[in-house]
This record gives sequence, C-alpha cells and structure tokens, in this order.
Amino acid sequence: MSLPIRPAVLASPDYPFVAVDALIKLDQNESTQDLPDELKALICDQLRFVPWNRYPDLNSESICKVISTYEGWPAESVVVTTGSNVLIALLTQLAGTGQQVVTAKPNFALYALGARLFDANLTEVPLTPNLALDLPQLAEVIRSRRAGGPSEGRGVLYLPQPHAPTGSVVDAESLRSLVREAPDWLVVIDEAYHQFADTDCRPIAKEFDNVVLLRTFSKAWGLAGLRLGYALTSPAVASNLRKLVPPFATSVMQTIAISTVLTHASYLTERIKLVIAERERMLKALANHPRWQAYPSHANFILIRTPNAEDAFRHLLSKGILVRRQDSYFGLKGCIRVTVGQPAENAAFLQAALTA
Ligand SMILES: *Cc1c(COP(=O)(O)O)cnc(C)c1O
Repeated sequence: MSLPIRPAVLASPDYPFVAVDALIKLDQNESTQDLPDELKALICDQLRFVPWNRYPDLNSESICKVISTYEGWPAESVVVTTGSNVLIALLTQLAGTGQQVVTAKPNFALYALGARLFDANLTEVPLTPNLALDLPQLAEVIRSRRAGGPSEGRGVLYLPQPHAPTGSVVDAESLRSLVREAPDWLVVIDEAYHQFADTDCRPIAKEFDNVVLLRTFSKAWGLAGLRLGYALTSPAVASNLRKLVPPFATSVMQTIAISTVLTHASYLTERIKLVIAERERMLKALANHPRWQAYPSHANFILIRTPNAEDAFRHLLSKGILVRRQDSYFGLKGCIRVTVGQPAENAAFLQAALTA
C-alpha cells in the first residue's frame, strides 16, 4: 500500500534526539536550574483563578503585550508560538516552500529538516575553518540566486547568532552587510542563546523590514518545559506570519506563566553571569586536556573535539554525565557538546573529562 503522504515527508528522518537517563543532564542546553520557587508558586496561585473552560487569546495578545514591554518592540510586530522551533517551520512555509532556503552547515538541525519537509530548495554553506558563519560565501550564494539560471530565486536565509552547535559569533557590522545583500529575502536571525553572548540584533531588525529575530524562553530563562518562543520583526512580516500560526495556539497556563515571569525577570541577570563565568572556567580547565580540544563559545554550551565521540560519550555516561554527540554533523567528527550547568555539575564533568 502506498501511503497518501508527500514524498518529502516519507523521506525525512526523525528529529535527531534520543532521551537518555542520567544523574547529571548536560545534553539539551536547558538551564539546569528550575524557575525560582517563589515565582512558580505565584504562577500556580493565579492558575486557580483564571477560567480553563474558555479559549485563550486568539493571537496570544496578552503574551505579545508583556514581551513588547520587556523587549521595547511594538506588540503588533511580535509573533508568539509554542517554542521557536514552531516558528522555524512556519517561516519556511511563509517564504521557503517552492523557493530557496540558505543556511550554514553544520547548523541547528531544524532549518535543513524543515527546508526538506516543506519542499524548499536547500543550500548549506560550510562554516569557516574556525567554525564561524562564512558571511562572504553566504553573500555569494544570495548574489548568485539573483543572477538567473537554474537555481534563481529567493526565500529564507537562516543565520544563528550565536551559532549552534559551535557557540561562535560574527560581528554585527558584517552581519548587517550580509542583510543588505538580501533585501528580497526573509532573513531569520536565531538568537536562542544571545544572552550568553551579550549580542542583540534588534538594531538590525529595526533597520530592515525583512529581518526576523527568533528568541526563546527555553534556554537562559529556564523555561524549556513551558514551550514558548517568539519572533520580533516588522508589522508586515508579523501580520503574514500570524496567518500561519493556528488560532488560540498558546494556553492560559502559558499566558499566566510568562506574564508573571516577565514582570519578575530579575533572576535572569545573575544566572547569565554565572553561566558565563562557569563557561570560561570550563574552557580554561579544558585547555589543558591532553586529547580533547574545546572550541571557544559565546553560548551556554561548549563544543569539544575528541578522538572518538562514542568513546567520550560512553565514558562520561559511565560517570553519570549525559552530553550530546555531534559527530554525525558535517565537519564535526569526534565532537561532543556539553551544556554549561551549575558549578557542581561542571566540576563533575571536568573531573570525568580529565580522565578520558
Ligand atoms: C534551543 C534552540 C531553539 C529554541 O527552540 P524552542 O522551540 O524555543 O525550545 C532555537 N534555535 C536554536 C538554535 C536552539 O538551539
């Protein structure tokens, strides 16, 4: 029997993730600290007094409003969904289907997976030897798509800042020059980890109507379980993107939680400071490793090249520490990725690493 399913979907692999139990879980770049207990209690108290029998906002208006205040961005240009990975799929559907998707390789897996699932023509530009975005080559691809020929066209350009899974950043001026080369493309800058890099692409998004910034509550905020992400863009892109978001997409629970968190956001600063200090401490310790090479990072994770990723993964797991293998990605032979956790978790990781 042949299933009535599009060939692109049938051919698509599953999302590359396997859940593994471990004492110290450093595999998903979450915050390893939960939300402060007082905030959780405050949210739970309110949940009793909102109606659960009624639909929530049509377009997450209340959430957009608190994000607007927090980010200093017009509410009409904020689009909210249940995680920024949903936005990645929607943005490809918005401007990539039947068109082009250009991104880096390796990169966050969802850009390429989505491009294939939604029938876009995918071009992946390898990173530079020091694992940064190759901005001149990306600009060259965009220019060549304009020149005509078989791959002529436009579409979506995905640029993470900082980049995952390497943690590298590019300088804002060069990024802006690339955006200038792509006025008829949708340029998506994924800022999932921007707090740890102290980078902020809002000035670029303010300048160019075709730029979309993606931000998430899953990483620095410590709210991966809540499932919320958002786009900051122009009114024109926002109003069209919103047509692809299902109505009533975010729940009253999410609305209450995020409104409370964003009006009590002071816990964030200390946490970011701690992650950055711990990251630098880990990098310094790893610099003395006889066999492993850690790459500098501007995010809450570190990419490490080892002689054999499977051996490294198993060795760490035998000590109760779970990291993520990255060795199936282009150019990342032998690589693992470790999330920067709490000081005790990082100490356990370092101790295990130094005996590998
Ligand atoms: C974690 C991550 C996201 C966030 O995804 P959510 O769906 O918001 O949890 C987006 N982009 C990158 C590069 C990430 O690593």
